[in-house]
Order: sequence, then structure tokens, then C-alpha cells
Amino acid sequence: MPAMMNTSMNARTYRYTDMMLEHASVGIAVYDARDLRLLEANTLFMTILNTFLDSHWQCERVIGHPLTSWATHIDFYALSVVEIFCTVAETGVPYRGAELVVTTGKRGTTYWNWSVSPVRDEDGRVTHLVQTLNDVTEQVLARRKAEQAQNALSRTHSAVEAERRRLEVVETVARSVREYLDTEHIGNIALDAIAEHFQADGSCLHIADHAQQVLRLVCARQQEGGDPEGWKSMEYIPFERTIAGKQTCRQREPIVLEDLQVAAEMGLFNKKNPLVAVGVRGYVCVPLWFGDRFEGTLCANFTRPICPDGPEVKALVGSGTHLAAALAHARLHSSTAREQTRLLSILDQLPEGILIADISNSTITYANLAAANILGLSLDELLSTPLHRHPWSHAYTGQSIDGKPILPWNFAVIRALGGETIKSKETLVIKPCGTKIVTLTSSAPLYANNGAMTGAMIVFQDVTAQKSLEQHKNDFLSIANHELRTPITIIQGFAEILQLKATQDQPLDSLTQYALTSITEQSQHLTHLIEEMLDISRIEQAQLVLRRTPCDLLSILARVIDSQSITTRQHQLHLVLDGLQTTDTLIAYADEERMVQVFNNLISNAIKYSPAGGEIEIGLRHMPERATEVLIWVKDHGIGIAANEIPNIFKRFHRASNLDRSLSGFGIGLYLVKEVVIRHGGRVWVESQEGQGSTFYVILPLNV
Ligand code: ADP
Repeated sequence: MPAMMNTSMNARTYRYTDMMLEHASVGIAVYDARDLRLLEANTLFMTILNTFLDSHWQCERVIGHPLTSWATHIDFYALSVVEIFCTVAETGVPYRGAELVVTTGKRGTTYWNWSVSPVRDEDGRVTHLVQTLNDVTEQVLARRKAEQAQNALSRTHSAVEAERRRLEVVETVARSVREYLDTEHIGNIALDAIAEHFQADGSCLHIADHAQQVLRLVCARQQEGGDPEGWKSMEYIPFERTIAGKQTCRQREPIVLEDLQVAAEMGLFNKKNPLVAVGVRGYVCVPLWFGDRFEGTLCANFTRPICPDGPEVKALVGSGTHLAAALAHARLHSSTAREQTRLLSILDQLPEGILIADISNSTITYANLAAANILGLSLDELLSTPLHRHPWSHAYTGQSIDGKPILPWNFAVIRALGGETIKSKETLVIKPCGTKIVTLTSSAPLYANNGAMTGAMIVFQDVTAQKSLEQHKNDFLSIANHELRTPITIIQGFAEILQLKATQDQPLDSLTQYALTSITEQSQHLTHLIEEMLDISRIEQAQLVLRRTPCDLLSILARVIDSQSITTRQHQLHLVLDGLQTTDTLIAYADEERMVQVFNNLISNAIKYSPAGGEIEIGLRHMPERATEVLIWVKDHGIGIAANEIPNIFKRFHRASNLDRSLSGFGIGLYLVKEVVIRHGGRVWVESQEGQGSTFYVILPLNV
């Protein structure tokens, strides 16, 4: 019974074991370890095995046959299956194989881990080998998915990393542009950043010199071991020899050569180009533009190929914008600095003294050499001490010249700092040695663009010599006038007595008569001249006093024309009236004697300077629309005045250079005309053409 019971129990156990093996999710096979015969295998195993077998061995025909007969061609990962089984049988060391790929029509590709394990008898001998096949498809697929996700992640990561590096380069350049002015320094920072973040093998920054049509090297970087002489040839590159050629100064897009070596091989790039020769592959050249101006180039080369939209190209383009601005600012800065130096050197060389004072502390911030010389101080003494603290400033109290109070020169600056403008005023300078000099000074406040006052400027010249010459001349004039007037008045008086006596007693012979007339005329002429000289002194000493009364200009002019007509036979003097009748009156509040002097001077000049004779037109125009003034003109057809002389003829003692010197004169008449007319509130000017004649115009205000 027990034996029967045992037998039935064993049978049941085998049945269950079979069932378990049949339905296990693991493929199992048992081999005889001696001849590697396949003894038994479950269905799963057979299904998988069939995918490796040719049609002859399929459908379980392999059971009972040694592995060596049906599996010789099966290699798992380069190891022959037979060898693996033999090794396990001999050594007793189990074998574990991973991820066997099985492709079936039903499930497609599946992955199996497999193993060969030895089964030993009581003596430890390997009698059987058990092969298992374990489906790991899900794990493999999950792992692959994870790997793919990991790859995608690392691709994103490297893109982010490239962007980070690009931003870092651009930010470094932008920061250096904000912090520094020196382009070379900024350029070096930019090239270092490019080298550090993108492993550029060489990089360089060039500035465009449009005048010379060349690119000038600002700075360059190259990998250690590079040829230091290489950059020498890059110091000056004519525009037409750059990679973009003559287009360089028009090209705005970066030039990207992805792989120079390939391009050279394909004949697209000159093989002899030094870049090709030194093994450069990727090359970028970014033209730097600031607004409409080409400022230079930023270039970099790499020993690896690059992409047109790669991070290194983007970083260079991004940095290029900031570098272009830096180059433009440096250019403007240096041209301003050049201009400033030029201006200062002009100011330094001017013979006029120039000072600039600062409003904040009334200190002289600029003085040229002439200023220091005129003031008798060193530049150091002049600069940096506030005006009111200068040791000499107290010496000026109560100073005068020729009895008239005179403005100390430093007051001209102080008044300009107070917003006043002073034009050509005589000021006093007392040098440290005590010498007094007179300067002709102008000063004015200086304003910034926003209208705020920043300081004041003073320009002055030493006029002491002219001043004393003038003084001597005035002294001479007043002495001469005084000393000449008395004898001439006496001569004139006696000549008149003799004339009178001659007419009363007996007629004179013609020679005596001529002599007497000449004495009278010439002494009258001399008196006239002396009067004019006296007038000049009076004007200069501000002593010309007008005796103004209401008087009729028309009748004054008519009288002068009558008296002048007598003096000439060659000229015909005509009075032309415009807007007036001969019977009208033109009342002006004027000094009658001075008016006679003005008309006499203009008409006598018209006669004198048309020696060939001819018509002289004296005109008067009074229009209702300009009722408060009258226009008077004197027109001749004489020698005229050259255009370059016209601005000067109203200056005292000036005579035109085209004059025939036989035409006598001192150059005083027109000066007096101008002074008298201006003092009456009028204007005088001339229109003339050399050889054609002149017209002098006078406008005088009327008493309406
Ligand atoms: P003067 O006649 O004594 O030289 P003025 O002051 O009257 O001095 O004139 C100054 C100069 O202007 C003259 O020397 C002459 O060159 C020029 N001038 C004046 N009037 C005339 C004129 N009507 N035609 C040509 N030149 C004139």
C-alpha cells in the first residue's frame, strides 16, 4: 500500500510538475551533459527555439538530438551556443546570457535572458544541463524608453548649455562695453570669453579705417602653439583682401564657413589661403555695424566644423552688436579728443589772452600762455585759485587812467560769471611788478546745452602801446590845433583887410589880386582842416556836442548845392525831389552846422572824385509810408570805389588805394559824416562800382 501510495503520489507530482513547466512563463529545456542531447523542453522553449532553427529541425524534431547537430549555426553575441554548453558541462559553472532577441510573427520582437545551469549527481558530476529562457521584453523596452528619454534630455541639456555659454559671452562683452572705454581692453575681454566658452582656436577684432580702406587689427587671440607671426599679416587688411572682398564694408550678414577644409577640397575655397594651410575648419566673420556705419569685424576660427546657426556663431553675432557700439563710441570719443586737442593748441597759440572760469568756485580752469604773459603771472599761479583770493585782487581799488575810472580785468570775469556780456572794454591789469597795462577785454558767460551757466570766458589783448600812441596823437592834435588856429586866423584877418583896402583905395594888379585870393582860399582851407581835426579830438574825447534845433533840411541842402556849384565848372549839380515839392519843408531836429558839414563833405567828395566832370545828382526822398525819416543821396559818375575798400572808407584817415594822389585829402571827411549822422540817429552807406561812380545814402530822422 505504501508502495502503491508512493507510486500514485509520484505520478501526481510528475503531472503537476509537467503542468507547472508547461505553463511557466520561463522557457525550460533539459540536456544530457555528456552528449548535449536535448532531452525535454516546455512549449515556450520550443516556440522560441523554432525561431532560430531552419525548417528541417522545427516542430520538436530536435528532441533527442544533440545540440551539436542542430545548433551549430546559432551564435549568441558572437559565442557559439555549443561552446557555451560544453564549457558549462565541463566546468560546472553556470552561464548567464542577456537579452536574446527573438522575433515572432505573433509578438514581434521580444527579448530574453537565458541561462545554462549544471545538474549534478550525488558524486558531484554534471549529468544534465538545464537551459532557461526568461522574457525580459518589458524591462528592455522600458529601459530603452528610459534611455531615449535620457538622450533627449541630454540633447536639451546641451542646447541649454550652449545657450548659457552664448549668453555668458554676450553678457561679458556687454558688461565690458559699459565699464570700459578702451576698445582694445573691451576687445580682449570679448576674445577671451569666446575662447573660454567656445574653444575658438583663433579670434580677432578689426576696426575699419574708411579713409585708408583697410581693417586695422585691434586685438587677437590664438591657441597656444600657434604661429605668433601669423597675426602680423592680419594687422592691416585692405578691404578687398578680406574674405568678403570689396563687399566687406557693405556686408551685414555674418560670413560662416562651415568647414574650410571640405570647401577647399571641393574647390569652393582657395587652398592656398593661410586659414586652410593651418588646418582651420569652422570660420565665422561678423561685420560690425553701428547704425549705417561699418565699424569693423569680429572673426573666430575653429579646428572643428561649425553650423551657421551654431552657438558660437550666435555668440559672435550677439557680441558683435555691443562691440560695434564700443568701436563707434571709441571713434567718436577719439575724434572729440582730437578736436579738443586741436582747439586747445589753437587757443594756446593765440596772441590774445584767454581765460575760462568755472561758475562753481570762480576758479580759472583754463588759461593760455598769452593770458599768463599779459597778466605777468605763471600758469600755475593763475589756475586753481578762486579769482577773489588772488593776491593781486586788492590792488585795484580806486584805479583810474587819464583821470577816468577803469574796470579791473578780473571784474570783467566776475561780471561775466554774473551773466553779463562785456564787449571790447578797456580794463586795467596791474602786474605783480607794479606795471600798469591797459587791456581791451571782452567777456561772456558760458552755457551748457541745457541752458545752465557753467562758467565765463574772457578774451583780452594788451593795448597799452596803442593807447599811449593814441594819447600822444590826441595831445599832438590838440596842441597843433591850438598853435595853428591863432596864426591862421591872423593871416586870414590880414588878407581880408588887404582885400578891403585894395577895393577902397585903388584896384590891384592881377598878380597881387591872385596872391591875395589864394592866401584867403588856402587859409580858409587850412581853417576847415583844423576844424575837422578838432572834431576828431572832440569825438574821441566824447566832447562832440550837438546843438540841435528844428531846422529845414530841404533849404539847408539847397543852400549847400548853391555854394558847391560855384566851386566847379565841369560838374552839373542837380537836386532831385521824390515825394516832395521845392516849396516843401522837411523839419528835422538837428544841428544845422553839422548838417551843412555832412552835405558839404558828400558833395565836395562827389566833385573831387569825378575829376573828368559830369553830372552829380543830389536827391531827397520823403514817402508817406516812411514819414518819420528822409533819404538823401549824392550820386556821381566818377572813379568809384573798389568793393574791398567799401567797408573801410568810413574809418578815420582811410583813403582808397586806387586814388590818384594828386587828389588831396586826409581821409577824415567820411568819418565825420558817419559820426554826425549816427549821433543824429541816422544811417549812412555807399553803393559803388570802381570806374562807374558812387552813390552815398543818408537816412535822417524827421521831427514829425
Ligand atoms: P578824403 O576825401 O579827404 O580822402 P574822405 O573821408 O572824405 O577823405 O573820404 C575817404 C575816402 O573815400 C577817399 O579818400 C576816397 O578814397 C573815398 N571816397 C569818398 N568819396 C568818394 C566818391 N564820391 N567817389 C570815390 N571815392 C570816394
